[in-house]
Amino acid sequence: MPKRLKAYQEFVEDLEKRLQESGEVSQEELSKMIDTTQEYLQAASDLSKDEWQLIANYVRRDLSDWRNDYKRAYEESPSKMALKESIWYWLAKLSDQSQLEWHELLGDLQHQGVYHSGELLGLGTLECAECGRKTALWHPTIIEPCEDCKSKRFYRHPISDSFE
Ligand SMILES: [Zn+2]
Repeated sequence: MPKRLKAYQEFVEDLEKRLQESGEVSQEELSKMIDTTQEYLQAASDLSKDEWQLIANYVRRDLSDWRNDYKRAYEESPSKMALKESIWYWLAKLSDQSQLEWHELLGDLQHQGVYHSGELLGLGTLECAECGRKTALWHPTIIEPCEDCKSKRFYRHPISDSFE
């Protein structure tokens, strides 16, 4: 498994543990918790601080992009969801109790809705910006160039679009 993918999974697992211990959190608390997880993991790791920062950014982006998507996907097609035990399911339930502004998790991160090959995406439907080929990603995945046209740019759509 690529190092970055493994680091992402470690990150999500650690964050989930922290969330479960603390119960309901505000968006600001969740954001701080992401910082804490990053500091904790980078202290005992051969990945650099910059690499952990990148992983933390992927987690933030995914959290702000997918939470509603995950919930919808789960409700529409539970049998397809291998992610039931994951942090995303847990967050979907958590947020029923609190009206969080999840998009604010992104802070100053640049996110124009364009994804590039080499980046990491946890869940979603990617559409090739050149040829329109759609690929559903159900697990954390490092984005590969388009199978048809080798383009490296993609748009992300909700995973539930894959049901149509
Ligand atoms: Zn393509």
